Amino acid sequence: MGLFKRNRPEPAKSGSPDEGRPPAADRQALAQQWREQGVQLQAQARQLQEQATQQMAAFRQAAQPGPTAEPGSGRWVRQVMAILGPPEPGFVKRCTCAVCGAPKKLPTVTAYVYCDYCASLVDFDLRRAGEGDTAPGPQYAATVNGTHAAAQAAVAAGDRDTYRDLQKQVYQAYVTYVPMAVSHRAKNDPGYRSSYVDYMAEAAVARAFDPAAQALEAEMKQRVLGLRYAGNMMSPTVEPDSFWPVVGTLERQIESAKVLYRSAGLADLDPDHAEHLTGKLGWSGFCQGWLGMLPADAAAELLDRAGLTNQYVPVQAEGGQPRHCGGCGAQFSSLPGARAVICEGCGRKIDLGGAELPCASCGATMTLPAGADEVACPFCQARVERAGLR
Ligand SMILES: [Zn+2]
Ligand SMILES: [Zn+2]
Ligand SMILES: [Zn+2]
Repeated sequence: MGLFKRNRPEPAKSGSPDEGRPPAADRQALAQQWREQGVQLQAQARQLQEQATQQMAAFRQAAQPGPTAEPGSGRWVRQVMAILGPPEPGFVKRCTCAVCGAPKKLPTVTAYVYCDYCASLVDFDLRRAGEGDTAPGPQYAATVNGTHAAAQAAVAAGDRDTYRDLQKQVYQAYVTYVPMAVSHRAKNDPGYRSSYVDYMAEAAVARAFDPAAQALEAEMKQRVLGLRYAGNMMSPTVEPDSFWPVVGTLERQIESAKVLYRSAGLADLDPDHAEHLTGKLGWSGFCQGWLGMLPADAAAELLDRAGLTNQYVPVQAEGGQPRHCGGCGAQFSSLPGARAVICEGCGRKIDLGGAELPCASCGATMTLPAGADEVACPFCQARVERAGLR
């Protein structure tokens, strides 16, 4: 279903694996502990979102033979937008960077909200996520189906390596064929893309070989099978009384995954290092999967329970200097004090440490992506090198 992109859950305030431990003597150690927990929650949240996607896909196949409104389609978007509020140009989701403390000020294009000052992933905007179609295409489904039997066999044989390789194929297909569901950083950054694939695959391994996680997945399948539907074929709705047990199982999955991913050591694998974004991703993915099928009052209740009722604030671009992405040529605003940003146009991380460089061929100026010593000018393709080279 395509409504799904990833989301992340709020930092867990209770029920964490560390609850009840004596206070850490060292504040830094305590902070690190929370950072690690956040990263793990994020990993788990992404897995849950993916799971919600698959559950919805399975449901739609089973319940809706024949043509139907695609998830992410106009009908779905209208329904979700009606709940989340009308789009407001000139506003941006209210959130604050957990890494540098800066409030989000500049407009965003995708659901992934990156810091205007340090380029860290700050938040996930469910309303933005509903604006595009992120339905997995047939190629992705073919990969999932094509690896399913071998994956089952690998689990039965206790063969983690084979299972991991199969999951990498699945997530490679995901980033390739469902790119709108993944951060725009994956578009033009092969390093980010491969890290993301490895990270998702490792989380899948952790889940597949954990009896408690498997029990919860089985429970989730039963809950989904127990759903009752109303409405008609083209516009089905889920009866809320049959839906809340699904939500209850999701909550337990989140708690379980916190422990599991911590023990699996997934903290270092997330290419966004978004330790502060925890349950929000999982809840958002789940909501993307189901919101459009709930009656409006139940949908509002779900958003409230998930903590996903967004607030928006006016864009604040005062003092920003215009710059141009050396990767795609898009103009963006560099706020005073900003060190790095993620280009909304192409997803490349842009290092703001130096001045813009001129293209000797066409005269355009641009700022190079982080880690790049040269680029092909996005306007004329001539080579532009970072100052100081040669
Ligand atoms: Zn920041
Ligand atoms: Zn760009
Ligand atoms: Zn040029």
